[in-house]
Amino acid sequence: MEEGKMLTLDGKGRDINAPVTVLKGVGDVKAAAYAKLGIFTVYDLLRHFPRAYENRGDVTLLEMAPNDVRVSVLLTVATSATSARIRGRLQLTKFRAFDESGTCEIVYFNQAYLKDKFVVGQTYRFWGKVERDGRRFSMNAPVAELFDEEKPLPELYPVYRLTEGLTQNAVWKDIKTALAYCVTYLPDTTPTELVIKNRLPTLSRALNTIHSPETYQEIASAKRRLVYDELLAFSLGMRLAHCASKRAAAYPCADTDVSPLLNAVGFELTDGQKKAVEDIRMDMAQGETMRRIVVGDVGCGKTVVAAAAMYQAVKNGRQAVLMAPTEILANQHYKDLSELFLKLGISCALLTGSVSASEKRRIYAGLKSTDPFKRLDVVIGTHALISDGVEMVAPGIVVADEQHRFGVRQRAKLQQKNQGSHLLVMSATPIPRSLALVMYGDLDVSRITDMPPGRQRVDTFAVDEGYRERLNAFIMKQVKEGGQVYVVCPSIEEDEEDESEVLFEDIGSSTVFEAKPKLKAAVQYADELASALDGVNVGFVHGKLKAADKDAIMKRFVDGEIDVLVSTTVIEVGVNVPNACLMIVENAERFGLSQLHQLRGRVGRGKRKSYCVLVSECVRKNEYGRAEQSNSQKRLEIMKRTYDGYAIAEADLSIRGPGDLTAHADGSQLRQSGGLRFRLAELCDDSELVSAVAEDAQELLSTSPELYDYPELREMLFELFRVDGDTVS
Ligand code: ADP
Ligand code: MG
Repeated sequence: MEEGKMLTLDGKGRDINAPVTVLKGVGDVKAAAYAKLGIFTVYDLLRHFPRAYENRGDVTLLEMAPNDVRVSVLLTVATSATSARIRGRLQLTKFRAFDESGTCEIVYFNQAYLKDKFVVGQTYRFWGKVERDGRRFSMNAPVAELFDEEKPLPELYPVYRLTEGLTQNAVWKDIKTALAYCVTYLPDTTPTELVIKNRLPTLSRALNTIHSPETYQEIASAKRRLVYDELLAFSLGMRLAHCASKRAAAYPCADTDVSPLLNAVGFELTDGQKKAVEDIRMDMAQGETMRRIVVGDVGCGKTVVAAAAMYQAVKNGRQAVLMAPTEILANQHYKDLSELFLKLGISCALLTGSVSASEKRRIYAGLKSTDPFKRLDVVIGTHALISDGVEMVAPGIVVADEQHRFGVRQRAKLQQKNQGSHLLVMSATPIPRSLALVMYGDLDVSRITDMPPGRQRVDTFAVDEGYRERLNAFIMKQVKEGGQVYVVCPSIEEDEEDESEVLFEDIGSSTVFEAKPKLKAAVQYADELASALDGVNVGFVHGKLKAADKDAIMKRFVDGEIDVLVSTTVIEVGVNVPNACLMIVENAERFGLSQLHQLRGRVGRGKRKSYCVLVSECVRKNEYGRAEQSNSQKRLEIMKRTYDGYAIAEADLSIRGPGDLTAHADGSQLRQSGGLRFRLAELCDDSELVSAVAEDAQELLSTSPELYDYPELREMLFELFRVDGDTVS
């Protein structure tokens, strides 16, 4: 169950949570197809928002149609259609049509019924890609609509995510049926005063518009309303959970002198680190569970802060868990921390999926042991820590590193397993304060805004394919001088979807068409690079490798045996190789700013002068002569200019919305947050709206602490934030 189920009946006894089959035209077969998209009820269907819109209103001439981008052309049919069978089963229907700039051959396959549809002399609006061969134009299976001067055709067409058995038109039609079905009453849980205060459209209007808009302005306004609702629900839910869990009793860990630990690390803490350690020491000494997130840019030194918290727990006779999102990262933490803890007489083990069965048994026993001499104090690992065998005899603190890669659900589970534990979350996504209030409403926030001394600025460049040779020479140079190089490509699996040219993110700006450059397939790329760079050791890590293989390659990179590491984004989080001095990001337009910033943070960690090169076709001037910059260009510009993670996050929020900030390192989105699934909020490009939500949520809870004055809203939140029968806490 992904969305709140509101048991709401309208005057006619219609239930918005009724199965989709109550809709006329939706039978069992279609319902099964919808189920594959996670759509079960009428309400789910209404919230199946378009992933993009096609602008069929901008009509162009054959002559002017850009390559490889879908356009609308108005063509008059010149010849009657002929149908012929070619290569056995393939039925080819074709005819010619023209506009004032040329004549175009229109072709359809296996749609013989179209033969009689097109009338010579009639004009149609065709939507599709125009191919050209000299002066000859052709279109393959364009969408055709009869053009009538008197009755203008709609301009914006929603594009829905589909699955087998569904077509765009069928989904659109069903959604219209669903809107009509519940036209008299849509359950609207957002308090009316807030709708008015923020000048939002009604829910009914917003839903109707998002599915059948007339203008982009209208879409923007509808989106504002829907995003507002999502963020408000999320924000309220997190705050309520926070209040509930604040009351949960914890094992107090008396204030502890952490100087032995700090002496052992061998450097002076920055002010930000000191403040975070202070916050934690105070929290943990209380009888309530600590619930704190430490937010700080890559490299600001969060690990030692976590170590201090774990140290305090252990010194109070409790145990500590540190969960990292990847095996590589768990290994690195283990390597650094076990060395440190060893010096202080604290025992420490590593638990990941690839640990042997006998080692696992040893760890389980150590964690459970009541004998203080045999007991394991600290365990570091991956998701393996949530598995059933892991039981601690004296849980004290749970640390989750790089929290945005875990759902609230996993975090909750880890904490549930260790009742009474303090919780410390670490995030390298430097999120703006307004968004932090919404996203982490359930946590207290410590922000580290300074960096350890001596950190260099990583010079950043944005280049296109034209620079390939120079770039390879630059790699050679770095390697010859003893440096190491990261090359990051978007993940291989990401290739498939989204071939629409009209991206949702662009709505609201006038840039509608943004031709997507071809993805550099990581595998092929690694091969090419290896042969272009003579005598250089190139390694390749990608998400589909087995953890052990991945780690083996990573280890060789860390040890300096591999000079150039090509990878999909698996290296994004946390890994520390001070000798690496060049970060190349291929298809940089595919990454969010905050992700790029994190990637850039992988270099410049040692003494070598370091560089970051963002490779993207979007760097080229816009082909269609539009003056304004595309979002991708704007974003790459910001990377060149800005080095402060917080400023980048602010910029990201205003250009792209919170989506990137909640993005997984592997490019997928964190949609799952407790029971809530963001549908639109991640596309919100309105940072003022985010601030408004944070304020409104706070205001609402201060006037009605448990929301008893808003029973419908309360009930909806209760359903939304249910995790396996429990509220998130
Ligand atoms: P992150 O915040 O990205 O997790 P780490 O904790 O991995 O950062 O720290 C990055 C590097 O900086 C590590 O090598 C760590 O030892 C070093 N470091 C952390 N704090 C300081 C400090 N105050 N002074 C000098 N070096 C530090
Ligand atoms: Mg870290």
